[in-house]
Amino acid sequence: MQTNFSAAQLADPHVAESEKILRKCVHCGFCTATCPTYVTLGNELDSPRGRIYLIKDMLENGRPADKEIVTHIDRCLSCLACMTTCPSGVNYMHLVDHARAHIQKTYRRPLLDRLTRAMLAFVLPYPGRFRAALKLAGLGRPFIGLFESLPALRPVAAMLELAPSSIPPASPMALPGTHAGQGTKKRGRVAILTGCAQSVLDPAINETTISLLTRLGVEVVVPEGEGCCGALVHHMGREEQALASARQNVDAWTRAIDQGGLDAIIITASGCGTTIKDYGFMLRLDPSYAEKAARVSALAKDITEYLAAIDMPEPVRKPGTVVAYHSACSMQHGQKITRQPKELLARAASSCASRAKAICAAALPAPTTSCSPRSRRSCATARSGISRRPAPKSSPPAISAASPRSRRPQSCRWCTR
Ligand code: SF4
Ligand code: SF4
Repeated sequence: MQTNFSAAQLADPHVAESEKILRKCVHCGFCTATCPTYVTLGNELDSPRGRIYLIKDMLENGRPADKEIVTHIDRCLSCLACMTTCPSGVNYMHLVDHARAHIQKTYRRPLLDRLTRAMLAFVLPYPGRFRAALKLAGLGRPFIGLFESLPALRPVAAMLELAPSSIPPASPMALPGTHAGQGTKKRGRVAILTGCAQSVLDPAINETTISLLTRLGVEVVVPEGEGCCGALVHHMGREEQALASARQNVDAWTRAIDQGGLDAIIITASGCGTTIKDYGFMLRLDPSYAEKAARVSALAKDITEYLAAIDMPEPVRKPGTVVAYHSACSMQHGQKITRQPKELLARAASSCASRAKAICAAALPAPTTSCSPRSRRSCATARSGISRRPAPKSSPPAISAASPRSRRPQSCRWCTR
């Protein structure tokens, strides 16, 4: 893609990075076929290619964000399916991160939107606050119907509906300290990210991880001072808050490295893993953190990646155990981990079922009974009208807000049948 940034604009390293990304896009449109928001809404502006054009236009003209661009960028789920599909290696993740930070700096959202975002950024990254908020949610649950009837309060109703009615007690294993590996032979030393929301909603995930690793002879450190990876605020464009979280974690893990070395930093939530593996990039412009952050990113490993790389005794198979595996977007597209989780599960279960699914489920309303995720994917490809051959470079696609959905029968949301 041709770009027209001035030398003064390119002096900003964030703009220079985005320009490099934009130049890689050949607007072939392959990415639209696996973009859940395009598949659902059928609007080019809700596709990766459409968003890339919008971001280019905004950055190149040095314009503040407007309502239109905010709407379409907000709808992006950051599932990163477009990055897996793109044949040109366009780093959409870094581009949309830059766009979100630009939006945060230049666009004034409506009051309720600002309050909701500020509340999420204040509560979710902090386990104590999140736990208290979930308890308070019980008081608001009887009013869900009322909130739903008031358009301005629908986000509150949606949050109350998502809040579980009970939460498990906090795990003592998540407290800072060291869990010694069992056996006489030490197999390794790792740190574990205890994280934020996951540690409140399901502390058993980290407890089980620590138990398994220590049984395998691996020493597990829960470093003092680690916290939320920063992904949540990063996706909101609150760049300074995200970088503060990243620096705090880099400091905590650097101390653990200095105190005895680390073979890996284990992460049990794939979205956090995607962000921590990007710390090296996020902090590249900070001379006092760039090197340490790159070292942390290199050590970051999803638990399945780590387990797949070490010798483990054969698990005791329980006959008749059938496991279904959901490959999260941040796992398969953000971290490109697809094989290890299924191989580990297949070793322990009689059968591990995993359906190839290129499209994130988060944007999709409940499917009709006749549509499977597989058929949705093929329908999406067909509906996008994109051939598997790139469009000629001389005729870039026009951006149109017209929705192909209007051409589809409304009886089925997924296909043209
Ligand atoms: S798939 Fe094609 S249109 Fe989409 S980001 Fe990659 S190069 Fe651009
Ligand atoms: S990250 Fe996901 S939702 Fe966003 S443009 Fe890419 S495929 Fe679409």
